[in-house]
Amino acid sequence: MQQDLQTRLFIGGRWIDSRKSFPVINPYTGEEITRVCSADSRDVEKAVQAAEASAMSALTGARRHDILKNTAAEIQRRSAELADLLVRETAKPVRYASGEVDRAVQTFSFAAEEARRIHGETVELDAHPNGKGHFGFYHRFPLGTIAAITPFNFPLNLVAHKIAPALAAGNAVVLKPASSTPLISLALAGILADAGAPEGAVNVVCGSGGEVGNALVGHSGIKMVTFTGSLEVGRRIRGNAGMKRVTLELGSNSALIVEDDARLKEAVSKSLVGAFAFSGQVCISVQRILLNQKLADRFLELFLSGVASLKRGDPMDPAVEIGPMITEDEACRVESWVGQAVAAGARILAGGSREGNFYEPTVLDQVYYGMNVYSREVFAPLVCIERYTDFEDALARANHSDYGLQAGIYTESIEKAMLAFRRLQVGGVIINDFPTFRVDQMPYGGVKGSGTGREGPRFAVEEMTELKLCAMNL
Ligand code: NAP
Repeated sequence: MQQDLQTRLFIGGRWIDSRKSFPVINPYTGEEITRVCSADSRDVEKAVQAAEASAMSALTGARRHDILKNTAAEIQRRSAELADLLVRETAKPVRYASGEVDRAVQTFSFAAEEARRIHGETVELDAHPNGKGHFGFYHRFPLGTIAAITPFNFPLNLVAHKIAPALAAGNAVVLKPASSTPLISLALAGILADAGAPEGAVNVVCGSGGEVGNALVGHSGIKMVTFTGSLEVGRRIRGNAGMKRVTLELGSNSALIVEDDARLKEAVSKSLVGAFAFSGQVCISVQRILLNQKLADRFLELFLSGVASLKRGDPMDPAVEIGPMITEDEACRVESWVGQAVAAGARILAGGSREGNFYEPTVLDQVYYGMNVYSREVFAPLVCIERYTDFEDALARANHSDYGLQAGIYTESIEKAMLAFRRLQVGGVIINDFPTFRVDQMPYGGVKGSGTGREGPRFAVEEMTELKLCAMNL
């Protein structure tokens, strides 16, 4: 089933060798899957030049639509092979890896639709006396070359969320994928080329963020940086980008509020997936569960029995729900954060131990803001429990965070749902579902430390185009 792996840089429609390379490791087996070419500053230069020379901005909307539609169809056709590759480089359990491939098909399909409906509006210039006799309209134009920098955890669909709208809008892209998971991006570059993307429309330069990513962000030929990753790196990119447009899709420590009128079983089962899917290495993973005191004991009894029955093991096994974390260093970080929390009074209700890069699904009680496990992004199979008696207090606690990506709330009360929608300081409020809910056409992004800008093809196309006015004195 596995086709040949692409391991070279992709620049100007060609596969390019480099002198240096780095290993890509399967986090489950610890084996080296292959080595991938590492770009240097000359490769970055060539990639930006190739993007600037590409024919993207001259393509019709119909042609851009076809390229994206063909890409979606090819991802669909090769879905089993791509899911297999995702499992190997991320150790994402195959049940979730297959879901990611399906979502990438959706992302390209929605972006294909956007390519056919980029439009402006007329402007009533004579609404002011000075505009008398003038006719105005605006249109959206591509920005030019966009740098896309992506994280390890959704290395196909998050790349899709950058490349697909960029191409839909007529831009060219230079992509720097995460160093731990570059293979799926290289496979996607081949698919896009076969689907008809012109030479230079999509370029992939692999290598370290500090060198290749940094060189891209600072390059004067780049008009926009679209970044998904951690708050720390996002801050650095914002500092280095100068006057470029920047969108930042960063992390979170998402809260789920469960009111006493909640659909209990559903809230429990969604919390299990939201907290532990892909070992919590999801930006909208459930990190904090706020329980109405009246239902807390019933919730916890069901939840802890669910945690005990999560199937751990080989991510290639379709029954497995919990695999290893991306690296042992990451698992050690969680171990130390849990140690600090316990020393400060937290109680372990489940899990709390590590073996190599496996961290057990962990539930902590008696947590507070001063603990890393609560206030920072844990990005691990760990969830904190809090109890509340007053709903408005629950909203205030959910807001007590440096982040604000999405929040979930289970309640049957429309008043409480609307109060939550108005009060919660996040990019998305999810009623009667977990904060981990996402379909790919919706506007998605955060406030505070969770970033700036929105993804979802329609919204990303807005970010990736320049609005230009034409005023005519007739
Ligand atoms: P990361 O460490 O921030 O890395 C993300 C990307 O930035 C990688 O390609 C990395 O390259 C690159 N990079 C590192 N330093 C750089 C620099 N100085 N200049 C330019 N690029 C640089 O994040 P990660 O560990 O891969 O992913 C986890 C994070 O992503 C979490 O915080 C998670 O919440 C966030 N995330 C957010 C969303 C969202 O949509 N909001 C979605 C998924 C993940 P190297 O790999 O070579 O270091």
